[in-house]
Amino acid sequence: MIDEAIPLSALQHWSYCPRQCALIHVEQVFDENIHTLRGRAAHARVDAPHAATTPGARIERALPVWCERLGLTGRCDVVEFRSDGTVYPVEYKHGPRRRREHDDIQLAAQAVCLEEMTCQPVPHGAIFHVSSRRRREVEIDAPLRARMEGAVAAVRDMLQEGRLPRPVNDSRCKECSLREICQPEIVSAGDRLTSLAHTLFDPDIETWPPMRTDPAPRGQS
Ligand code: SF4
Repeated sequence: MIDEAIPLSALQHWSYCPRQCALIHVEQVFDENIHTLRGRAAHARVDAPHAATTPGARIERALPVWCERLGLTGRCDVVEFRSDGTVYPVEYKHGPRRRREHDDIQLAAQAVCLEEMTCQPVPHGAIFHVSSRRRREVEIDAPLRARMEGAVAAVRDMLQEGRLPRPVNDSRCKECSLREICQPEIVSAGDRLTSLAHTLFDPDIETWPPMRTDPAPRGQS
């Protein structure tokens, strides 16, 4: 067992933006925006632990899960335990049906937790997109598992070092609730200025064209 368990949500945050992950899980900062509020609304139905039986499956909501091998802990929104033995996690997300890598990483981590807990393979799961009320099935294949385990290692390193990564400063920032706190444009502009200053004042970096040396005015040597 690894001492510090990583929350499954940290993998999703890191896969979206490493700096967002550090702000939330290292600096303990959080803020709401329209996207986080929609996310909360999407989870409202599945946030309370609940079990139900339907024809062909037992449905568990808000099921606590963990994986000792990778040191993970969290909750699954929904897990279907089907009568044929299939274990099938379903993660609720706001917005229309679309593939997003960070959602798939989180689902793969849930699948690995369920495999360890039930000793059953979990080869598939789904993202339920609340706005369109459609499922997107995800194959928990070897490449996705490898990317998820890479995320686990990167998050563990970041948490241990307490490091705040540089901002991504791209289209992801438009939907990020931490934009005001993160200030991606200002931090990135500061990075560019620092880099320019190093270039200008580093004696080992030649400037081109060479600076012109004007002849000394007459009468001066
Ligand atoms: S504003 Fe951009 S760089 Fe900052 S945490 Fe959010 S996504 Fe990452």
